[in-house]
Amino acid sequence: MSLLNRSRSPIDPSNFLRALQNRMHALNNNAFYHNHQQDVPEILQVVFDEIIGSSPLVDNLLSVTMTTTTSCNSCCFSTSREQKDSILILPTCKSIADSFNKFLQPQELLGDNKWFCPQCSSHQEATIETQISNCGDFLVVQLLRYTSVNGSSFKDNKLVNCLPKKHHVLKVASHPTDDVSFNNKYNLVATINHSGTLKAGHYWAFIKDQQNTWFKCNDRCISQVDTFHLNNSSSYILFFSRS
Ligand SMILES: [Zn+2]
Repeated sequence: MSLLNRSRSPIDPSNFLRALQNRMHALNNNAFYHNHQQDVPEILQVVFDEIIGSSPLVDNLLSVTMTTTTSCNSCCFSTSREQKDSILILPTCKSIADSFNKFLQPQELLGDNKWFCPQCSSHQEATIETQISNCGDFLVVQLLRYTSVNGSSFKDNKLVNCLPKKHHVLKVASHPTDDVSFNNKYNLVATINHSGTLKAGHYWAFIKDQQNTWFKCNDRCISQVDTFHLNNSSSYILFFSRS
């Protein structure tokens, strides 16, 4: 905002990135160099791990808790696994609500993907289903824009309506048919966008201020934007805050 008002020069992120590089190298993640091209989710994950490691309170602010249940279609034996993540990876659909719905739909494990059922002691057709049991005050979503089909990778440039339609509030469903046990209403507060290809590109951000005005932050250029710009084919990481 200071840049927009031309009252200050840009903040140089070099020191932060150098410190991040030192930390990542200390963790034996030597792929990160501050002056090289990097993928945002990888860097975010390291930053979140560092923040979450600093306090259990932060864990509750940033974590999404999910339970994945796999059920044998033959004998009905089922097993559940709970996991916590700080970045929720969702399929790319025409709207963020659709992405959640698709993520929560049961999937069949058939053919080559059959599941080894411990009760049948053999590979069986099975159903796998994920439920969201809790979300923190902040919800970070990564859209699955980079996928691999038959060994070749591609970027999905589908237009995604990131701004929830109804009063701009996203209701995070736990399960397609269930009520949720947590306050599940979230507002979109920022997005990180990527333009370009798998090999090279450019990142910029949309950020909302406390007066609900949206700004595009693109290197040195900061400009006010209308909300329709949030629905685009470059959105990649979405930041939501509990409303
Ligand atoms: Zn079975």
